[in-house]
Amino acid sequence: MKALDELTFDNRFARLGDAFSTHVLPEPLDEPRLVVASKAAMALLDLDPAVAETPVFAELFGGHKLWAEAEPRAMVYSGHQFGGYTPQLGDGRGLLLGEVYNEAGEHWDLHLKGAGMTPYSRMGDGRAVLRSSIREFLASEALHALGIPTSRALCVIGSSTPVWREKQERGAMVLRLAHSHIRFGHFEYFYYTKKPEQQAELAEHVLNLHYPECREQPEPYLAMFREIVERNAEMIAKWQAYGFCHGVMNTDNMSILGITFDFGPFAFLDDFDAHFICNHSDHEGRYSFSNQVPIGQWNLSALAQALTPFISVDALKEALGLYLPLYQAHYLDLMRRRLGLTTAEDADQQLVERLLKLMQNSGVDYTLFLRHLGDEPAALAVARLRDDFVDLAGFDAWAEQYKARVARDGDYTQEQRRERMHAVNPLYILRNYLAQNAIAAAESGDYSEVRRLHDLLTRPFEEQAGMEQYAQRPPDWGKHLEISCSS
Ligand code: AMP
Ligand code: MG
Repeated sequence: MKALDELTFDNRFARLGDAFSTHVLPEPLDEPRLVVASKAAMALLDLDPAVAETPVFAELFGGHKLWAEAEPRAMVYSGHQFGGYTPQLGDGRGLLLGEVYNEAGEHWDLHLKGAGMTPYSRMGDGRAVLRSSIREFLASEALHALGIPTSRALCVIGSSTPVWREKQERGAMVLRLAHSHIRFGHFEYFYYTKKPEQQAELAEHVLNLHYPECREQPEPYLAMFREIVERNAEMIAKWQAYGFCHGVMNTDNMSILGITFDFGPFAFLDDFDAHFICNHSDHEGRYSFSNQVPIGQWNLSALAQALTPFISVDALKEALGLYLPLYQAHYLDLMRRRLGLTTAEDADQQLVERLLKLMQNSGVDYTLFLRHLGDEPAALAVARLRDDFVDLAGFDAWAEQYKARVARDGDYTQEQRRERMHAVNPLYILRNYLAQNAIAAAESGDYSEVRRLHDLLTRPFEEQAGMEQYAQRPPDWGKHLEISCSS
């Protein structure tokens, strides 16, 4: 266990120099205070959880203090936003404070979001509000607990600093952890500004730090791209299987590590809805729930374009061709497990699709249906869940198919089936209305609900005493909350 001043820094990205990032000091928040900290994330840095309660913790992550070894930098990148290329973006309100190595030798970027203006702030104020910082914190830690690759969040620091959005809010900072903050958009920036030497330096950096095993391959850059394709296919399969809608899949929000990154107006589905659009600025539904799959490929193609100086177009196309089949295999594997199946049959894809269509037409709660399907033997469970459906004949036909499939699947007890299904079907997810309740309390100075929700969501598969109201469908007011993009 370490104290705060015992972290080991080695700032390799900063050493790439001024073509890649700019030195900027954080702009402190007024009256910084701890809103919530993740003990699990602190453990990644070997930090003693008790230090979260010390004043120096809020000072460090509220921008008042810095480690002597920290080298805060704003990174430059660009990216495709809603399909159009924006030539220059960059860290407009976040700073890479430094890179820390833990005792296991793992590397973690410390990134402070909401740390003030940088050369890349464009029209923005460099700030993040408490609302969006809490949402990013809860989502990062909740996705991680579901087994979905994601950046992590160490803490949220609140303040009395006024920040103007649609109304006046309070500034906050979230300390994000990731093995890297390099995005697809970093590669696009050096490609479109025609800086092949710096682009190669960036590629070497990523290869050395994050894909060292690709060095062994005859074409290391190609091997790295292939790996990025594979990781994205797997990550997006998990989003789709768990009903997670990212909301802003611009290429500047896509991590080179294939982790969920840069949370904005994200949402978990309540009722299953393939066409769900969580970002109310996304008028055309470019990033709707079901579009996330083809958009994943579109984004990888944008990265491939940026890699054409290093890799032949044919090889890039071949690697891109891996995406859909890999996605489908991962997705189907996860959905089989969610349905409690241990073997594979060709018709399973159709079994899943039929169920989703029925859920879609009846507005069935996606998470709760799958959770309760494991509560009892298949025949009893479907009989109990039947009432949720409008098309009863359709559901009965599906239920017959499902029961027959379960019977063919294997010889196991209901205890085994329940245990297996509950281990992959969460009882608790980060529903928008739950986040909203926690935010409303936090905005009036009461952080207990944020902490309770965070704690609950770190164990989403485990039924927890006294938490029944968190395992319900949302109330009417909480069903169609509009999540603002202004964060
Ligand atoms: P995002 O939608 O949060 O992924 O941000 C897109 C771009 O806008 C990034 O370059 C951000 O750094 C920048 N940005 C977003 N909000 C602000 C803000 N309040 N101040 C400065 N830059 C911002
Ligand atoms: Mg972003």
